[in-house]
Amino acid sequence: MRVYLIAPKPDFDSEEKNTVLNTIGFKTPQVMVAAASVASIAAWFPKETDLRLCDELIDPVDFDDPADVIGISINVAQVKRGLELAALFRAQGKTVVLGGAHVSLAPHIFEGHADCLIKGEFEPVAQAFMDDLFGDGLKPSYSGGKADMSTQPIPRWDLYPNHRALSGVVQTSRGCPFSCNFCDVIQYLGRVQRHKPDENVIAEIQVLYDHGYREIQLSDDNFTVYRSRAKQLLRAIAVWNSAPGRETVGFNTQLSVDVARDPEVLELCNKAGLRRAFIGLETDNEDALKDSGKRQNMKVNLIEETTKILHGGVALRSGLIVGFDHDTLACFERQFSFAQALPIVGYNVTVLVAPYSTPLYDEMKAAGRLIEDGDDVLAVGGDSITNIAPANMTRAQLAEGRDWLKSSILAPENAAIRFEHFARALASPVLPPLKVRATNAHHPFMELIALLASDKQARRLIDLVRDLERTRPEIGPDLMAALANYLNEYATDRGIRPNVSNHRPAEALSA
Ligand code: SF4
Repeated sequence: MRVYLIAPKPDFDSEEKNTVLNTIGFKTPQVMVAAASVASIAAWFPKETDLRLCDELIDPVDFDDPADVIGISINVAQVKRGLELAALFRAQGKTVVLGGAHVSLAPHIFEGHADCLIKGEFEPVAQAFMDDLFGDGLKPSYSGGKADMSTQPIPRWDLYPNHRALSGVVQTSRGCPFSCNFCDVIQYLGRVQRHKPDENVIAEIQVLYDHGYREIQLSDDNFTVYRSRAKQLLRAIAVWNSAPGRETVGFNTQLSVDVARDPEVLELCNKAGLRRAFIGLETDNEDALKDSGKRQNMKVNLIEETTKILHGGVALRSGLIVGFDHDTLACFERQFSFAQALPIVGYNVTVLVAPYSTPLYDEMKAAGRLIEDGDDVLAVGGDSITNIAPANMTRAQLAEGRDWLKSSILAPENAAIRFEHFARALASPVLPPLKVRATNAHHPFMELIALLASDKQARRLIDLVRDLERTRPEIGPDLMAALANYLNEYATDRGIRPNVSNHRPAEALSA
């Protein structure tokens, strides 16, 4: 039996631009983060199964593949493309299996579009699924519930094109105890956090290292919220990462602002090589935080708390949200001032959206403020279009304000101020930096700099960051990583989308 497992590309261009580096000088697309979904599912199949993986962000789906079974893993951003692929393969008579976060959150959308649906996490039903697939035939659906993370096999990275991903992935926990009302993660994975044993995490890290990764994302929903467990795992990673002869691996993850209260966790992050994290600050509007249930961000000075995290040695990227019921048209300038005051260079800027199965979705539906398109699919688009009728402005005003905010944050003269905050606040690394510039995939940094050579403002910013690097050489790699991410977003925002074939080879470029 041949099985073809597909991670579809996202439904919106903006999502794709943020995750794929195919516009900045690569002969073949490179992805920021490897697709763990298909590699993880593949690990449950018997070794002799003829398996093929497709990450559609970097490879087109092969409709001529002779597979008998097509498995499509669908997250929140891949609904339309997932359904489209399912229809095309079913028209060929293939057996189509759909699973993933969105199938679990809104199974009614997928009913009738597949031969088999996996609702909930796959692992608890993986063995029954395999028995049926290779036995009497698949059932129409399986309900997985919550997995025991100690039983997860190591993902089949040997089947993935690792040379085309900048970062590998390990998930060390699932779930988050907080209760933000717009968060679908806790609806899918739960509020009781489950943990993968330390030795299993280290084994997965070793496999990724052996495949060439020197950057690894710990794709947890909230890595540090159970601080005693985080400390224990960080100690194990620190020992692994400082072993004699080891090339230092950089780790990144997601955490919440409460970690600022525990300097020991931050110190251990730094010792482990975990120097970058995403944090959902969302807004400094206390009323909005209260309405959304984001209590962990309330009654603290978010600027002071984030600064403490950088003082501990962890650089941050943050999410900002506009469109809360307490947001008026003044919210865009207020969020801009908030962003500029933080020691953070990069931001995800999005409008508030009510995902399926969340308390916010129910609230908006009950209030008659939910907007769905004709296919009963959420009417959202990229980072700007919400599925909520906003309280104090139109959807168009919200989209326009969000785009203004993102562009203003990305303006080089504004980014320069944040780079200076960043360079003042970030503590030096404990581990020696990786000597080689390129990891698995070729790093886009030189191409980005060459691409923006004629942009005077961007050049001035690049010069400023190089000056900061001369002042604090010990955080040079952190500055360069922040600059590379910044330039990638800036080039995308300004519509600099060159024809790949016009690019000189990377080796011929210099800063
Ligand atoms: S902290 Fe993050 S993961 Fe946890 S509930 Fe809030 S948004 Fe979800």
